[in-house]
This record gives sequence, C-alpha cells and structure tokens, in this order.
Amino acid sequence: MVIAAQAVVPYVTAYSEETVALNLTFIRDTWSLSGVRLSYTDPTSSDWDMGVMWARQKTLRRGKVLYDELHTLRQKECMLSRLCQVCQGPASDPDTGLLTWVFHVEPPAASGRLSKPPICRGCLPEAITVCPYLRREAHVYGSGDYCVWGVKGLVVSPGRQPVLRDVPRDDLHTLAFTFARALVVHVSELRRENV
Ligand SMILES: [Zn+2]
Repeated sequence: MVIAAQAVVPYVTAYSEETVALNLTFIRDTWSLSGVRLSYTDPTSSDWDMGVMWARQKTLRRGKVLYDELHTLRQKECMLSRLCQVCQGPASDPDTGLLTWVFHVEPPAASGRLSKPPICRGCLPEAITVCPYLRREAHVYGSGDYCVWGVKGLVVSPGRQPVLRDVPRDDLHTLAFTFARALVVHVSELRRENV
C-alpha cells in the first residue's frame, strides 16, 4: 500500500521491528480439555488472557510501517477500551455515544464480526483522504456498543498445519491451541452514515 508522506500512522498499525516471538511448544495443563495446550517455551501468566494465549509482540513503533498489519496488543487495547484505531482517543461520539466504522468494501451484513477497531469522527476525514483503499471506496457506518466474540489467531494443533481463523470465546478446546493475534467483536445493527 502506498501512503502519502505526511500521513499519520494509525495507532493500531504494526511496524517491521515489532516482531512476534514464536518459541512455541505444547505443555501439559490439567485445566485444558485435552490435558495439553499451546504455550511459549518460557511461559508466564501474562501470556494468557480471556482463556487464550496471546502473541508476544514488541511494542516499539519503529521500523517500516506495515499498513496491512495490526499490532496485536494495540488492537486488543483499542477493542477492549473502545479507542480510535488512528489516534487512541475515545472512539465513541461524545454526543450520541455511537461508534463509527469505516470499510473499504461494503460490509456484507448489518451484523457481524469485526477485528479492525472503530475510528473517531475527528480522524475519519483524514483517514479517507490518506488511505488509498478508502480514497477509492469508503463506506461509513455507525453502531451502538459491541460485545467480545472471540479471537482471530493461528490454530496450532499437534500434527496439523497451522490455520489462521476466527475462534469463538466459548470454543475452549480450540482456544487451548490458538495463538491469538486480534480480538474479534460482534457488532449489531450497523447503520450507513453520510460523510
Ligand atoms: Zn481518532
């Protein structure tokens, strides 16, 4: 993706020096449904949150900007705290309390799962001007609050090829083998907005 020189780098965007640790293994865990779960080789309790192991990703904001990649921890922070994906400020409109979402393709349904955080009204015009995808086609929608649906992550099961997929928060068996990279939320009643 080509971005204009002075563009503000969105808060959720990852940088090339923000590498992800991949020293993964399987450990015995009596709390896991199968008695085994995915783990780092040097596990710490902070690796797990919401019943799943999260990628350890450096938080430097240095290196080449990877516009097509979200930083795992910043994405999760935005989703949990309803923060704008660009400026890290509150995402909801202070007058209406509604959240704003911007898509470069038309969303297929009024309700569904999202992993790209909302955007505040203040950042919306520049995002549409600067991002080449949105400049070509921008669809702006509003919604009320959302709920956590699950995670997007790499499912790494013993003896199988890893698969990137969305895993619901109640699928405890799959979550035990999931390397979480983003929080997925469920948004209802998206309403088109004019900008
Ligand atoms: Zn903002």
